Amino acid sequence: MNDFIQPLNEDIFFIKGKNNARYPYSNSLLIGDHLIDTGISPHYLRKLKRTFPINHVFLSHWHEDHISGNYLLNNVKFYCHSKDELPIENVKKMIPLYNVRNTPIEDELKSLIKLLRMQNVKIDTLIEDNDIFNIGNQLKLKVLFTPGHTAGHCAFYELKTKIAFLGDIDLSKYPFYGSTDANLEDFEKSITRIKNLDLNIVATGHRRVIEGKKKIFEEFEKYESIIQERDERILSYFSERERPVSLKDLKNKNIIYRKYTAFKDFELIAEILMIEKHLEKFQNADLISKEKKGYLLN
Ligand SMILES: [Zn+2]
Repeated sequence: MNDFIQPLNEDIFFIKGKNNARYPYSNSLLIGDHLIDTGISPHYLRKLKRTFPINHVFLSHWHEDHISGNYLLNNVKFYCHSKDELPIENVKKMIPLYNVRNTPIEDELKSLIKLLRMQNVKIDTLIEDNDIFNIGNQLKLKVLFTPGHTAGHCAFYELKTKIAFLGDIDLSKYPFYGSTDANLEDFEKSITRIKNLDLNIVATGHRRVIEGKKKIFEEFEKYESIIQERDERILSYFSERERPVSLKDLKNKNIIYRKYTAFKDFELIAEILMIEKHLEKFQNADLISKEKKGYLLN
């Protein structure tokens, strides 16, 4: 067996993405002849196809690092949620969703789409919350509509083995809700929903497999606390009731990205989008109000 293929039981395999599934790669899960996500890398995907028959492909969401291998899968049926269908069928639609139109990042994103050789594919079947797919004689794969990271993000839960694939509820140090279709409150609700499932093994888009109920629960708590720390960092700018806080005050302050990397231009755009999601949440909770010059504590 290739070393990027890790059996979790006789029919379910964790497929590790290239470079430890670091962007622009991601992990997959193979259940019988059903593959979830295609961003492991073209080389790995070709090898995987030679090892196993793949007839069905579920896409957890539209982000490029999860769908980039679609072009290598001919004669399969593609599945995703209706809210993520458009940018999968037309990858150029990703540009407005990342809010990068008319910025230098627009060209970078276009180059990446070309470099990854991404192609549009037609979605055959739309999936919905609580759909169950029978795989082989034994396995039942349940769809969990878990919006927030994107509008149509789905996780997958096999009922017999209690193995789940969580896509980009990725239990990493960097919870991401930086596209325009993301929603922080939905994201947090989705995390709570998954956290309360009975889980034996969890695979995510960008980490190694996590095993054991206690360990899994702790990882969820850590993930949630990262979002809470972001809440607190943003709220710490609201020291005085009279002084409005504008988005400009929160820009370039390492509120979400504790260190900016070589992708700083993109990170700054995503960071502001994510900060806006926190502000939206605070407004809905009546903590702050939007005024002409910025946001004010209530
Ligand atoms: Zn993603």
